[in-house]
Amino acid sequence: QVIYLNGEYVSKEDAKISVFDHGFLYGDGIFEGIRIYGGNIFKCKEHLDRLYDSAKSIMLDIPLAYDEMEQALIETIRKNALRDGYIRLVVSRGPGNLGLDPKRCPKAWVIIIVEQLAIYPEEAYRDGLVSVSVSQRRNIPDALNPKIKSLNYLNNILVKIQANLAGVGEAIMLNSQGYVAEGSSDNIFIIKRGVVYTPPCYVGALEGITRATIIELCEKLGYSLKEEPFTLHDVYVADEVFFTGTAAEVIAVREVDGRTIGGGKAGPITTHLLGEFRKTVEVDGVK
Ligand code: PMP
Repeated sequence: QVIYLNGEYVSKEDAKISVFDHGFLYGDGIFEGIRIYGGNIFKCKEHLDRLYDSAKSIMLDIPLAYDEMEQALIETIRKNALRDGYIRLVVSRGPGNLGLDPKRCPKAWVIIIVEQLAIYPEEAYRDGLVSVSVSQRRNIPDALNPKIKSLNYLNNILVKIQANLAGVGEAIMLNSQGYVAEGSSDNIFIIKRGVVYTPPCYVGALEGITRATIIELCEKLGYSLKEEPFTLHDVYVADEVFFTGTAAEVIAVREVDGRTIGGGKAGPITTHLLGEFRKTVEVDGVK
């Protein structure tokens, strides 16, 4: 495994960061998780746009221009000889001193890790996942805007811990007003009477790139799509529920908090959207 570390390609063993790195000390940095399908970087522009927007918002200077970043991604994939996998792109504020002041960090660090992806088994896409709602609440956009894909993932990690305790793979997080926000690392959709709903990002959801792809697909396929806040009640009585994310793609949910969703397996619209999503992934990317 070859890792990109500040312009150099190093082995996994040599890919080290300083204990004074503010990404490590404070979670001061941003990241992206990107898929490679058949040698293509899926939605490369969308991921880089989100990265550079997150950087601008937190006044983090990425030391690479957009094109250089794209080239670094391509080169790291090439060096790892991977056709299908996952890219983790991290930009940390870089090494500083123990104070939290970013002015003490002269240069951001860029790290690119390319890896095989552990994905759900294929039957999970047919049978659907069991999920639960958790007590952890999503920050709504007052302090930490969920549009910033920052390295501060404690909120999501607490959701994941609750999911682990419940023995499920993904859980549902509400915001402080009780509206459904998203999963620990996936966006959520529900379907009722043929209409597809997903929470607007202002309730506290990341502007997921898979989410955006599904919204586009719904338009293309003629499904009515509404970005509207909804509650757990709406999830329980939905005909279909699914999560979306770079790693999970489009995965059905068959049970939430003990309530069976629809027919208790992946429903027809979810299955249709997954099929169409998988048709687009290999053509819609950067080689
Ligand atoms: N929400 C959160 C909190 C996430 O970390 C992710 C994964 N990046 C998602 C949603 C899904 O976003 P995407 O489709 O861009 O992977």
